[in-house]
Amino acid sequence: MSAIVRVRNLSRVFDVSKPWLNRVIERLPKARLRAVDDVSFEIEENACYALVGESGSGKSTIGKMVVGLLPPSQGSVEVMGVDLATEPEGERRVEVRANLQMIFQDPYASLNPRWKVRDIVAEPAVAQGKATDGLAEALLEKVGLSAVDAGKYPHEFSGGQRQRICIARALAGEPKVIICDEPTSALDVSVQSQVLNLMSDLRADLGLSYLFISHDLTVVRHMADTIGVLYLGALIEEAPRDRLFEDPKHPYTQMLFEAAPKMDAFGREIDPPKGEIPNPIDPPSGCPFHPRCPIAVDRCSVDRPELRWIGSTRVACHLAE
Ligand code: SF4
Ligand code: MG
Repeated sequence: MSAIVRVRNLSRVFDVSKPWLNRVIERLPKARLRAVDDVSFEIEENACYALVGESGSGKSTIGKMVVGLLPPSQGSVEVMGVDLATEPEGERRVEVRANLQMIFQDPYASLNPRWKVRDIVAEPAVAQGKATDGLAEALLEKVGLSAVDAGKYPHEFSGGQRQRICIARALAGEPKVIICDEPTSALDVSVQSQVLNLMSDLRADLGLSYLFISHDLTVVRHMADTIGVLYLGALIEEAPRDRLFEDPKHPYTQMLFEAAPKMDAFGREIDPPKGEIPNPIDPPSGCPFHPRCPIAVDRCSVDRPELRWIGSTRVACHLAE
């Protein structure tokens, strides 16, 4: 297998100072938020790589940079060997762009209510100048809806059906890579697993690769081959799925697993990991997890641990073994 997506030393810094305040107090230091901090990983062809973390851990920002919606501050993303941030306009760029699609969390917000489903689904093919006769109908059937649904409007469908429409639309671009940002977290639990099963089947059928972004370990366990755990914008552990669930090595990953069963019927965390997430504008020195870490030693507040390999796991903790 070879990597279809290569993310190298990716960082994204946002200027979050208030412009009006800067005008009043001229020399106010600029507040900078490091939303993504030196993240590297690869997605193999036909594999599902999941990024998990609490809200604000940088997962959606990484997704936007991978799909090319947001330029990196540092580092690079290569898809099919092409870096969209630097590749000049031309055939190669158009081809790679066409091979990337995104599915968002909210199937209500991402469908134009005034368009018929036929036009919504066919849109990526229209944008690529491809023939669209019968395309929407065929894709709707592929995602478990029916051809007559093409003539309806989004409001005539349930949440799960709307997410199927979003998936059909993504497939119309004939992508190789789909970025899925919390694709089922707005759906009822009963519908979630149907949509996840559909996505797994499509991956196998069409040879797709997924970057799957989620806060929900149950969902990630169902979908992913490899899992990366993010904390304050940094990758702190990465491992093959079974390895991560059997033997989580980072104290933060262990804490996430302890909190995981305590979800309500809608998959929302009732009892999040202990302690507050630190202010990302003023992150802790040393290991970013040290203020919450139950096993921290003196060194942890001074030295930042690098990601290092232990067997098939990469982990950023001085004490992991
Ligand atoms: Fe905890 Fe120290 Fe490991 Fe950070 S490096 S996770 S503070 S033990
Ligand atoms: Mg998000």
